[in-house]
Formats: sequence, C-alpha cells, structure tokens
Amino acid sequence: MSKKKPRPTPVPAEGLSGMIDAHTHLTSCKDEISSLLDRFVAAGVERVCTVGDGIDEAELALQAAQAHDRIFAACAIHPTKAHTLDDEAKSRLKAMAADPRCVAVGETGLDDYWTQHAPEDTASLEVQEQALRWHADLAAEVNRTLMIHNREADADLMRVLGECAQAPNIMLHCFSSPLNVAKEALNRGYILS
Ligand SMILES: [Zn+2]
Repeated sequence: MSKKKPRPTPVPAEGLSGMIDAHTHLTSCKDEISSLLDRFVAAGVERVCTVGDGIDEAELALQAAQAHDRIFAACAIHPTKAHTLDDEAKSRLKAMAADPRCVAVGETGLDDYWTQHAPEDTASLEVQEQALRWHADLAAEVNRTLMIHNREADADLMRVLGECAQAPNIMLHCFSSPLNVAKEALNRGYILS
C-alpha cells in the first residue's frame, strides 16, 4: 500500500465554477472512483471525460461513465499501442463508441517520442497512422469528437488529419505545439485543450 498522503483538494478559484475536465484517466488512479468524484466536485469540477488508453481500460472508462452521471468516456487505443488494434479490438471499440455515455473517440493520434525512446514497446509511426485513420472514420461514423494525442509529430499529424474523415469536433488534447500549428488548427476549426 502506498504511504503517500493524498494531495489536498484544491479550492475552486472564484468565478470558475462548473468546470469540465475534458481529459483524465480515472482508471489509472488508485483511489475509488466515488472518492475521486467527491474531490473533483469539491474542487469546482462538475464533469469529467475519462479516457481509456487500451481496450480493457476503455471498457473500464465506459463502465465508470455508465455508473456515474458526472463521468463521460472517451474510448480508443492509444497511439503507442496502435499495434493492438486488431479485428476484435475494432469491433469492441465500435460498440463502445456508439454508447450514449461515450462522447469521444480517443485518445488516438501520433507519438514520435516513444518511437525514439522505447521503440521495442511502441507501435511504428506507420501503424499509428493507420490506427488514427481508422479511429477518425469511427468518430465520423458515430458522430463523436475525435480526441487527439500528439507528441513530436506535428507535420504528420496535421497532414493526416487533413486527409481523414471529419469528425464533428477534433480536439487536440494537451496541446504543446508551436504557434503556427495552433493557428492552422484553429483555422481548421479544431479545439485546443
Ligand atoms: Zn491521456
């Protein structure tokens, strides 16, 4: 058991009530979801979107969303694990994405950091690109936001997104790219978070 003390719950800033956390990983937390819920409500966060980054985690995220009103799910295979997107995973994801509690297909995208730092455990960029295109088709088909993870792959990501089926919204999550990429993304109507 961890001896780490839980971090104190932040006090909500004045005028910042009703916040939505658009990207969290509740299933990675050791605490019970109900106690996490109490803490984020106390901090002024009314709703969260929890993301599953593998097929089993995506199912856990959806179960959490089905069990709690304040939680919504995003379901996909993380780009670094894109090699696990086999036929079975695809059919399970299709069913999850169509669930009313699933609001986004994600996170998908391109990660050219882990391809360099742990290539033996990371899907190649080519495999990641195929998975991104598959997830983009799915998001368009089920009319869900496409939630994008991008790490050190700006040019390839913007090229592929420009060619993909267009989801109703495209959210570039945890945006950390240069200003010119931000401008181009906003021109295309993407959401930065
Ligand atoms: Zn994430």
